[in-house]
Amino acid sequence: MKRWNGWGDVNYQYHLPETAKDFLQSKVSEGGAYADAALDNVLASVPESRIPTHPLVTTDPEERIRHARGQSLPDWVAMRSGKYHAFPDGVAYPTSRQEVADLLQYASDNRIKVIPYGGGSSVLGHVNPRPQDGPTLSIDMARMNRFLDFDSESRLATFEAGILGPELESLLNKRGYTLGHFPQSFEYSSLGGWLATRSCGQQCFYYGRIEELLAGGHIETLQGPMDLPPLPASAAGPDVRQLILGSEGRLGVITDAVLRVRPLPEYEKFAAVFFPDYEHGTRAVRALINAGVETSMLRISDAQETEVTLELAGKQDLVKIAKRLLSLFGMGKERCLVIYGITGDKRTARWIRRKAFQIFRSHGGFPVDFVIGETWKKTRFTYAYLRNTLWDMGYALDTLETAMPWEKVIPAQAAMKKAILDAGEAAGIHPLVFSHLSHHYRDGSAIYVTYLWPRSPEPDQILDAWNMMKTAASKTIVEFGGTISHQHGVGTDHLPYLVYEKSAIGMDWLGAVIEHADPDHILNPGKLLEHKEV
Ligand SMILES: Cc1cc2nc3c(=O)[nH]c(=O)nc-3n(C[C@H](O)[C@H](O)[C@H](O)COP(=O)(O)OP(=O)(O)OC[C@H]3O[C@@H](n4cnc5c(N)ncnc54)[C@H](O)[C@@H]3O)c2cc1C
Repeated sequence: MKRWNGWGDVNYQYHLPETAKDFLQSKVSEGGAYADAALDNVLASVPESRIPTHPLVTTDPEERIRHARGQSLPDWVAMRSGKYHAFPDGVAYPTSRQEVADLLQYASDNRIKVIPYGGGSSVLGHVNPRPQDGPTLSIDMARMNRFLDFDSESRLATFEAGILGPELESLLNKRGYTLGHFPQSFEYSSLGGWLATRSCGQQCFYYGRIEELLAGGHIETLQGPMDLPPLPASAAGPDVRQLILGSEGRLGVITDAVLRVRPLPEYEKFAAVFFPDYEHGTRAVRALINAGVETSMLRISDAQETEVTLELAGKQDLVKIAKRLLSLFGMGKERCLVIYGITGDKRTARWIRRKAFQIFRSHGGFPVDFVIGETWKKTRFTYAYLRNTLWDMGYALDTLETAMPWEKVIPAQAAMKKAILDAGEAAGIHPLVFSHLSHHYRDGSAIYVTYLWPRSPEPDQILDAWNMMKTAASKTIVEFGGTISHQHGVGTDHLPYLVYEKSAIGMDWLGAVIEHADPDHILNPGKLLEHKEV
């Protein structure tokens, strides 16, 4: 069963080694383990629903709590403190396109706001009802999770949009295929959510981003159904699929999608290399990309993240030995870790493996082959549970990310970390900040930063500190001309920064499309962009 106030399944615990506590204390001081709000108390605080009855809508208070928040830091503060500010007035679980259309009609007739809900893994406030919006309905797509069609000749698979990652992959795997879309939130994120937020999987280098995997689909809009046929390519003007991608529930409800799938790879392995420092590591990564060596995943951690990875890993005895060994080979405190994946047919995989080895060695790398890489693969989705464990130990954690051209990547990464550190200091906390480059492109890279700090018992103080750090980092991203999001989307939290990459005219055009599609501002208001008052 899914946790109501944190990440993932209630039955899974991410265990940290005993030494992790000392490590965290030495870096950011002791966290205070304060009690969470009890579900019963939150249930008692849910107000009367304001919407008329409908056969598809439940107003059960627990359902409303479970759909009130996503996974952002402010969402965690709300869930753990019980200070929610707003709940949806009802939740519906449609099972067909027609039921989605009926719900939109009901919402439109009764001036009820609608929030499409996939897995609720948004980290930017996407699924939260806003107090100022009045009656709100959450449309949870969980029961629209069927595998509708498979065209093996074109390798196109059609799924309903509420299907979650594991179910989608398992259905495809049974036929010998894969979508290859593996965000870290895979376990609890849905196809519709991936499309609506332009999500990016960990192996998008090989499989492609979700935008590249979408061939066609069906959307229920306030004006009626919209069919976008699967097309391999089209020069027939601007692509409406691109408007649906990243629409964050503002243009309609995606009910099903036709996806480009691939046969399961013949070979897949993840491996690791250590470098003496970040400079050597990043040069090696650039060299690999420039040489056209296409790994399926390639991630380089800075020295702080490498240390955190080692310190928070289980099996501390093995880690001790590994650290000693690394020191002997000149990989001291500044060492940094690269993890990479090789996916594909055996012949190409052999070539990639050989070339990667050569390039990494020629840049001073120390390959440790498959143990660390394969451990990363095994824990790549359970790592998300670490946040529950850290919170219980008294630490708050958030991440942010961007992408920008190569020439700016390294200085921007350093500046983002500094901005968070400085803002943290100004807020009276001393955050632990670490980072990696997560996705690489020929012309640039994505930067992913994690910051962790001892949380205060006062929810507002946690939010104030977070706000200062997040704002400082976001402004730094804008100063460097990066995107405000490489993969998480916009929601409410990134909304002020969107204009810098879209331009004022671009924002106007986007606003005009949304205004046309939804003149009464019914669909997920306040997300992606704020309507001008009408
Ligand atoms: C631990 C963790 C790790 C993460 N890792 C990654 C990662 O590696 N890569 C990545 O890209 N993101 C990641 N995310 C962010 C998040 O998982 C993605 O944004 C994901 O795509 C959201 O999918 P969801 O189904 O949970 O959508 P939700 O959170 O339910 O909704 C997100 C937005 O999509 C809209 N939406 C959902 N379904 C539909 C639909 N059928 N029709 C129309 N609109 C819809 C919602 O209205 C909302 O605006 C992570 C989040 C967490 C908590």
